[in-house]
Amino acid sequence: MAIQRLQEKTIAQIAAGEVVERPASVVKELIENALDADASSIHVEVQGGGRRLIRISDDGSGIGADEIALAFAQHATSKLREVEDLSSIRTLGFRGEALSSIAAVSIVQMVSRHRDEKLGMQVRIEGGTIVQQQPTGAPAGTVITVENLFYNTPARLKFLNKETTEKRHITALVTRYAMAYPQVKFVLEQDRRELFRSNGSGALADVMLKVIGLDNFRQMVEVDGYDAAREGRPAVRVTGYTSMPGFNRADRSHIALFVNGRSIQDTRLTYAVSQAYHSLLEANRFPVAAIMIEIDSQEVDVNVHPTKAEVRFRDLDAVFSAVQRAVREAIMAYDRSIPRIAEPSMQSQPRWEDRPTAQLDLDLEEDDPLTAIPEGPGRPVKPRTLPVLRVVGQVGAMYIVTEGPAGMYLIDQRAAHERILYEQFMEGYVNSTLPVRQINTTQPVELSAEQAGKVESALHVFEALGFKLEPFGPSAFVVRSVPEIVAHIDYVALLREMAVDTRVENRLIINICQHAAVKSGQILNQEAMQNLIRQLERCQTPLEAPDGRATLVHLSGDQLAHEFVRATGSATGKPG
Ligand code: ADP
Ligand code: MG
Repeated sequence: MAIQRLQEKTIAQIAAGEVVERPASVVKELIENALDADASSIHVEVQGGGRRLIRISDDGSGIGADEIALAFAQHATSKLREVEDLSSIRTLGFRGEALSSIAAVSIVQMVSRHRDEKLGMQVRIEGGTIVQQQPTGAPAGTVITVENLFYNTPARLKFLNKETTEKRHITALVTRYAMAYPQVKFVLEQDRRELFRSNGSGALADVMLKVIGLDNFRQMVEVDGYDAAREGRPAVRVTGYTSMPGFNRADRSHIALFVNGRSIQDTRLTYAVSQAYHSLLEANRFPVAAIMIEIDSQEVDVNVHPTKAEVRFRDLDAVFSAVQRAVREAIMAYDRSIPRIAEPSMQSQPRWEDRPTAQLDLDLEEDDPLTAIPEGPGRPVKPRTLPVLRVVGQVGAMYIVTEGPAGMYLIDQRAAHERILYEQFMEGYVNSTLPVRQINTTQPVELSAEQAGKVESALHVFEALGFKLEPFGPSAFVVRSVPEIVAHIDYVALLREMAVDTRVENRLIINICQHAAVKSGQILNQEAMQNLIRQLERCQTPLEAPDGRATLVHLSGDQLAHEFVRATGSATGKPG
């Protein structure tokens, strides 16, 4: 093809693709316009997932009759004059691209009356061309109707998601804006059904309650953190709500982030929120949260992408740690029973003074050789996964206190031992070298009919795990062998537990290791602790028990020093 300049219309359609990715982007841009126009009430009506119709009515300032056509021109805006204005932008829009983009790929009708004018104006635009314009009576404010979205861009139409997906996106978007602007009344109607309404009371709690329902809202805690400016770092306020650990979801999409009233997408900050739950939530579970970040507008670049959904922070680290700390403190404050020691990856300062004292009562009886952990199997030495840790002692018959190169490490003896046994067991299981112990007693183990059925159909699995079981009557088994690691414990109780659910081998192995491991409350002698630590140092995954519980918490030298400064502060009445 010969080179030719594109026609204006084609240029506009191509440009529109960047702003208007999907129906929800239209809703977003129009809500932002209404908010920028100081609306106190915004009504959103959607049909056919936004493809057929999107209508947004607001009671904002309205557009002057002589400006309404200009509003639809490319790069026409009342919000910005020079590029310098960008650094202090307070409005949600500023690029002057939304109306022209939307109009380029749909059929638009707008009725608007400026608050200071008597008469309103009505325009109709088809595929970017004004086909009708006339004065009309109307209440102050703006009603914009977008129909047949993407009717003239078949390529985009083809890539549209299912209607239900678009509906979901639109609902999520409207509720997000309602949360960010609790003083504005929002109503969302999809296919003539009212799906959401906020009352404009100004209280975020009122909106959250509407968004997630009362039962869920009861499981939310308020976030309210403030990091003052210091050493060139900006002040950051973090407010909102976040869920207690028991209320969680399978994906991150329920973490809503806002910066200065703008709904944003930011994987790092989403991570900061979920990271605040470290060790409180299982892997792959995520909290529900609405987090409002306020920061000097000079600190944020909002002009990163045409959809304005991404922003850039001058000091992302400062924002990251403010968010993480505020969320962590909120979840810790609701339940004093959660230990407040920072994990190795935590950036926030630990709240050592709020630790649950019962678990840390000093109760050292190191010389009492009650439980010995045998040395690990004499195989080739595995690579080290933890630094060398020196055992200092035991606390509350639960935790082993150790010292390493980067400070103090507290180890949950039970979780750590489960981890060690699990890796040893797995290795033997995979290589078919599991040590087993023959059993000579013939006392059968009675199970319920249901459990017996499950065990019966999983006999080969049990055998691979070291349990040789022989059916004995309808619902009993004689135990011929057990894995060596449970030979010295009540393996009948273990078998009964395993019989509850025999489907997942890994779960059965975890069961075995949990039964075989040293318990909380067991006093360990120095040698047993040292053996345990030495084996943990060479586990493949030393930081978690096989069921995901943390094995270790770390308190760095800096954190310890910091705690002493704080303690000094409170002892003398001065801030730490
Ligand atoms: P931007 O919002 O980036 O300025 P838009 O294309 O979204 O660009 O809108 C162009 C202009 O039209 C805005 O600057 C504003 O002056 C006016 N406008 C659009 N929607 C409304 C509305 N609902 N109420 C009042 N004015 C509006
Ligand atoms: Mg706009």
